[in-house]
Amino acid sequence: MPSQAKAYAAQSATTPLAPFSFERRDVRPDDVAIDILFCGVCHSDLHTARGEWDGTLYPCVPGHEIVGRVTAVGGDVTKFQVGDLVGVGCMVDSCGHCPSCQASEEQFCETTGFVGTYNAPDTVLGGHTFGGYSDHIVVKDRFVVKVGHDEQDLAGVAPLLCAGITTYSPLRHWQAGPGKKVGVVGIGGLGHMGIKLAAAMGAHVVAFTTSADKVEDAKRLGAHEVVISRDPEAMAAHAGSFDFILNTVAASHDLDQFMVLLRRDGTMTLVGAPEHPHPSPSIWNLLMGRRSIAGSPIGGIAETQEMLDFCRDHGITADIEIIPIQEIETAYARMLKSDIKYRFVIDMASLKQAA
Ligand code: NAP
Ligand code: ZN
Repeated sequence: MPSQAKAYAAQSATTPLAPFSFERRDVRPDDVAIDILFCGVCHSDLHTARGEWDGTLYPCVPGHEIVGRVTAVGGDVTKFQVGDLVGVGCMVDSCGHCPSCQASEEQFCETTGFVGTYNAPDTVLGGHTFGGYSDHIVVKDRFVVKVGHDEQDLAGVAPLLCAGITTYSPLRHWQAGPGKKVGVVGIGGLGHMGIKLAAAMGAHVVAFTTSADKVEDAKRLGAHEVVISRDPEAMAAHAGSFDFILNTVAASHDLDQFMVLLRRDGTMTLVGAPEHPHPSPSIWNLLMGRRSIAGSPIGGIAETQEMLDFCRDHGITADIEIIPIQEIETAYARMLKSDIKYRFVIDMASLKQAA
């Protein structure tokens, strides 16, 4: 039997998120049903709910940093049992047989593209998918990961499902580690995870921020140096020195100020996805140092599990502020002012207990 879900949804780009209910599908043989305990608040939720990227489907129930407890499993599921603590990130399905899916790089599914946890066509029920700002979810087992952290850390684990994997994957791909100088630009939800992860991988980490009040804090997160990116002298001191820069900024900005900090053959990878394009970077900064600008979307399911295990082994969770779902609009407003250290996480008990 399909089940009724309680949620918060935006009905249009200009309406605040408000209570909403909808049907979740019945548990199929390869499905896992999850009682959602916490859901992180990603800037992508805000971009989508507000229609800042093309193609938002309304009503929109955001949320792709989901942790919770398994309440039921289908007959073919062997990896999970009722009672397990699990996570769901940005994807809930993909074709499963193209070369990218076979390589567990489902984020690059070549047949259908991956099915997003929210705002994607729902191939089972029709309509579109609804995310983690809801009381429960039913997900194919292949897209569920195991949480090995202690249960008391669960709220801080939720942001790993997007902010964690989106920074872990490029740091691994571009081989952050001992002997490498790595920059992380923008200390928000993604950026603060980038600092923690790059430091745990053994890189020399330099954080770039526009917020003076984050300087000391960034060192606590693991940065060896912190630079205010609006200070041209402090920026110039690092010219030509970085192997890799991870840029997480959620707004359009001047990329050249960071490109000149890369050494020969260095790469700056953009994971931020702002509403408006960046001004075109200078061709000279690229060709004179054979430098690259790259991009990277989330990460595959196997790598998400690897990242969660890495975080458990290194004692890493996100720095969070827990909110009831009724405060989501205030959280969005504060996120737009970079006024959060560093991720809001919704305690889903607030939704379940509401009348
Ligand atoms: P966030 O928590 O709002 O952090 C963004 C940070 O960017 C801010 O904390 C701020 O850092 C900096 N910033 C914001 N506005 C700025 C401006 N005008 N100029 C310079 N710096 C500015 O957002 P998030 O959740 O980390 O997400 C960051 C971006 O990544 C979003 O665009 C999101 O949609 C995208 N994203 C992409 C993927 C992917 O798969 N590639 C996955 C998740 C999210 P400081 O205060 O330190 O300057
Ligand atoms: Zn996200």
